[in-house]
Amino acid sequence: MQSRSAEAIVVGGGLVGAAIACGLRDRGLDTLLLDEGDVAFRASRGNFGLVWVQSKGLGAPWYQLWTRGSAREWPGLAADLAARTGLDPALQQPGGVHLCLGEAEFEDRAARMARMKEEAGNHGFDYRMIRADELGGMLPGLGPAVVGASWSPYDGHASPLLLLRALHRAFTDAGGAYIPNATVTGGTAAPNDFRVETPAGAFAAPRIVLAAGLGNAALAPRFGLSAPVRPQRGQILVTERARSILPMPTTTIRQTAEGTIMLGDSMEEVGFDLRQSPPVMAEIAKRAVLSFPWIAELDIVRAWSALRVMAPDGLPIYDQSERFPGAFTANCHSGVTLAGAHARLLAPMIARGALDPVLAPFSARRFEGSRAA
Ligand SMILES: Cc1cc2nc3c(=O)[nH]c(=O)nc-3n(C[C@H](O)[C@H](O)[C@H](O)COP(=O)(O)OP(=O)(O)OC[C@H]3O[C@@H](n4cnc5c(N)ncnc54)[C@H](O)[C@@H]3O)c2cc1C
Repeated sequence: MQSRSAEAIVVGGGLVGAAIACGLRDRGLDTLLLDEGDVAFRASRGNFGLVWVQSKGLGAPWYQLWTRGSAREWPGLAADLAARTGLDPALQQPGGVHLCLGEAEFEDRAARMARMKEEAGNHGFDYRMIRADELGGMLPGLGPAVVGASWSPYDGHASPLLLLRALHRAFTDAGGAYIPNATVTGGTAAPNDFRVETPAGAFAAPRIVLAAGLGNAALAPRFGLSAPVRPQRGQILVTERARSILPMPTTTIRQTAEGTIMLGDSMEEVGFDLRQSPPVMAEIAKRAVLSFPWIAELDIVRAWSALRVMAPDGLPIYDQSERFPGAFTANCHSGVTLAGAHARLLAPMIARGALDPVLAPFSARRFEGSRAA
């Protein structure tokens, strides 16, 4: 058991916590990253790996801008991590498409994308609706069920596992302390004075960032914050390796740098149930084969399910405690996409001691009215 103090504590060593911890350490803060043991739910190890912009923020243009800002930060983050750690997160940002199977899907998608452009106003929103004949020249082997797609230049993908490992290594190489088996079970909060208890010891700091994924729901109220996140299950299938064939990712099908093809991913409201479900897996495979019939020739070599970290409105939660200055929360269901923003935009704000007004719409205070209702 150890007892230790530092300038900042980050609770949660998934993609969100690791990106923020890395950013804080890079700004010179003596930082502890406290992480639960292997019993944890870890979205960061079970996700699809998209760095995805085009569908984010309908009705919430501030989220679209934040996501796009993150996509802009990603090349710098990836290059920095590769140079510092030798671990390249395999970022590719060739643009991406959302395939539409049938006219109804195409019309619906066209309407959504038009609304996104309208809401983006002066910031602009670059996209095109593309019909199947043109799309066939961009993505080989499309099935006849695909009538078209939305395309945007902002989208891409990366290896989420390499990203997570690189963030952890960059953090510890820079002098940050990663403490595993350190589930925060209790503690006290006072302005700029936080003490937490864990099975690995007791830790104190004037600044604390709650980035514990689904664990934030229970932790946040202890620190004058709220994080009403729930699990949402997603299932993913992975094929054997194939020759390099897909030049860009789609929302549910992407070829990894190693050549496997990932097929995903469902959205299931089943609480903390992590079991896989054959009917859902069959539906994922069916849609993939309708999109690219040649996928039926490939063997599925892996499949899993994982739990997303979802706020009631699906948007991230970034907050700072009014009661206990120095306490922050960070939650999102796009921790790969937002890694650039978390390491390079959010962490500097936390290091300065306050979130910029641009993040005000992401405060969990937006749910207070609906809870009362
Ligand atoms: C199927 C699926 C597909 C997805 N696809 C994409 C995608 O394509 N692109 C994208 O951007 N995002 C995607 N996501 C979302 C992305 O994976 C998550 O946004 C991200 O992993 C969340 O990271 P996190 O660090 O908040 O949570 P987690 O990865 O869950 O990490 C939380 C950490 O906190 C720790 N913890 C919990 N409680 C405590 C405590 N009390 N004390 C100490 N530590 C604690 C846990 O041990 C864990 O390590 C997907 C998610 C799923 C499930």
